Amino acid sequence: MATKIGRRDFFNGVAIGGSGLLLQGFGTDVKALAAAPNGSSPAPNSLSPSTYYPPTLTGMRGSHKGSFEVAHALAWRGEKPARYQSLGEHYDLVVVGAGMSGLATAWYYRKKMGPDVRILLLDNHDDFGGHAKRNEFHHNGRMMLCLGGAQNLEAPNDYSKTAAQLMNDIGIDEDFIAAMDQQTPADMVLAGKFDADNGIALPGANGHVVIGGNWFAAMFGGEGYASTVRKLPIARSEQDKLIAFFGGTQDFLAGLSLSEKWRYINTVSYNQFLLEKVGLEESTLPILNAVIVHMGGVSGWHLTVAEAISNVASGINSMGWVGKTLASLGGSILDSVIQVRMFPDGNASIARLLTQKLIPDVAPTMQGPEDVAIAHFDYSELDINGRSTRMRLNSTVVGVREVEKKRVEVDYVSGGKALRVTANSCVLACYNNLIPHLCPEMPERQKEGLNYGVKTPFVYASVLLENGHAFAKLGATFFQCPYDTFQWVSCAPTMTVGGYEPPRGPDDPMVLCLMHSPMTGPKGNLTGREQLRLGRHKIYTTPFASYEAQIRSQLQALMGAQGFDHEKDILAVMVNRIPHGYAYPYLALDDPEWKKGQAPHEIGRAQFGRISIANSDSEALALMDAAFDAAWRAVEEQT
Ligand SMILES: Cc1cc2nc3c(=O)[nH]c(=O)nc-3n(C[C@H](O)[C@H](O)[C@H](O)COP(=O)(O)OP(=O)(O)OC[C@H]3O[C@@H](n4cnc5c(N)ncnc54)[C@H](O)[C@@H]3O)c2cc1C
Repeated sequence: MATKIGRRDFFNGVAIGGSGLLLQGFGTDVKALAAAPNGSSPAPNSLSPSTYYPPTLTGMRGSHKGSFEVAHALAWRGEKPARYQSLGEHYDLVVVGAGMSGLATAWYYRKKMGPDVRILLLDNHDDFGGHAKRNEFHHNGRMMLCLGGAQNLEAPNDYSKTAAQLMNDIGIDEDFIAAMDQQTPADMVLAGKFDADNGIALPGANGHVVIGGNWFAAMFGGEGYASTVRKLPIARSEQDKLIAFFGGTQDFLAGLSLSEKWRYINTVSYNQFLLEKVGLEESTLPILNAVIVHMGGVSGWHLTVAEAISNVASGINSMGWVGKTLASLGGSILDSVIQVRMFPDGNASIARLLTQKLIPDVAPTMQGPEDVAIAHFDYSELDINGRSTRMRLNSTVVGVREVEKKRVEVDYVSGGKALRVTANSCVLACYNNLIPHLCPEMPERQKEGLNYGVKTPFVYASVLLENGHAFAKLGATFFQCPYDTFQWVSCAPTMTVGGYEPPRGPDDPMVLCLMHSPMTGPKGNLTGREQLRLGRHKIYTTPFASYEAQIRSQLQALMGAQGFDHEKDILAVMVNRIPHGYAYPYLALDDPEWKKGQAPHEIGRAQFGRISIANSDSEALALMDAAFDAAWRAVEEQT
């Protein structure tokens, strides 16, 4: 989940920070990759209907082994194969990246140019959807879903006309959005039901102290907030400050003039405000940061007070008139949060719907959104010779160039082979930072624009439990865990949307969904972008075994008092590593306010002959509809 209101909605900013950090050494030699078949990346034509089904794979998912080595060799060491085997395949359009933007590009292009156009989508992962990944478990005859990344339709009523049309094309219209709400249980906090109980869990003497009620509401001075805060296992003096802060009984900016207040909230970090104005101890900050790292991907050290409030941080009540002004903004944020709608596998269902529209044989009996969650997908149908649209997974593009202004050559590495296809046009729906390496001929200024932003890293884990007894006793479906590696623990989505039959009670097996952000440390002298790179490095260098150990000890601490035994009760773990997550939204503390058209992402997304750029980076907005809008723009440029 990310909020719709970003940097561009706020004023001010200070100087740009320093240069990037050099990250060393965890790639495989691309020459070795080209020489030897890669065990974890089957060649596309070897996808078998019975064996190739990535949503059920456990262990390290997301940026999995085999997906990133070729791209890292290119980006870090400038290495790529010297020669490519031409496949003799020519397409009207080649799309690099089969995430939301790539899928939407293919759909818009086909809609505009007719059903017979030849399209090839290439993606380096073993599954389609990009950030929107499906996690699927089977146990005791029951199929259970969870999300491996992008969560929900956020404020679908606010989508652009073209994005809304795409949603309509795949069957998600106003009626279906209303039905989704009906099919979502009232306690499903993860799906936007913020009236439901949600708790907070802090380390205590014997495992975690778990506090129920509605913690979100308490953070905004909701009913019983003071008694809820009194239950936190922190010093009474810190409780006193939190009570004053949540309750809005005090204006913490009272000593400042009107203009000073406005300047303060737009130039000082939220965490600095908490320390110097609210008077909290540094050790209390995680309690107020857990929600921000999830919504915005960075901590309160990197956001101004105003930006943090836009990411649903508390404090709106406690800044006198400034808070009241921001409250109107807060209202629009809440509107967008309340409009959330969700499939049981998150936005992976949208990726499935688009994929089936493009390649119907992948799920020939699927009706649409009403059965998308349970439809069987046959991945061996994705890349069939002779079909108008084809999708080739496990294929990392390493070069894209226009030849004689007549066609585009696209080089990629798949299954250890260096291959080439040609096209009339190419849309790059991949990460901005990689594009200068794919198209070194681009103007330097454009490459600088593409290199500027740094995507936000995350880890989402899905954990299959033998039953739901211990979790049910905690009294809510969702908990913030500010002092743990995984800052949020939620019951996996239990809506019946998409034909899904969720677990019905504690006797059934259940799935937990956990979210980790590595962006919680102190800021030091680093810019947000530098720290985002470090966060990415941290998750690339953390092995699956460490995440699993952390998950086990955290869940034991959370539910041990309820009879949970991780050794017996945890049946399977999927860790979705997302090193290249949210698009960079600009940070007021680090970035200047660019004139319209001069922001790095705007310079970077310029059309380059027969090559156009889609993806949410090109909109500097981590939202699915931004990915659709980027796709629309790219298709318009090429048609
Ligand atoms: C954890 C998380 C949660 C989110 N939650 C929400 C949400 O709830 N609602 C919402 O609206 N948005 C959400 N977002 C924002 C999300 O980023 C967008 O919704 C959208 O999915 C982005 O799509 P994209 O196609 O631009 O990028 P991506 O999903 O990143 O897709 C790009 C694809 O290109 C591939 N690629 C990159 N380089 C190459 C190459 N060289 N060769 C081949 N393929 C390549 C990538 O591997 C990837 O598969 C979330 C994002 C994250 C990370």
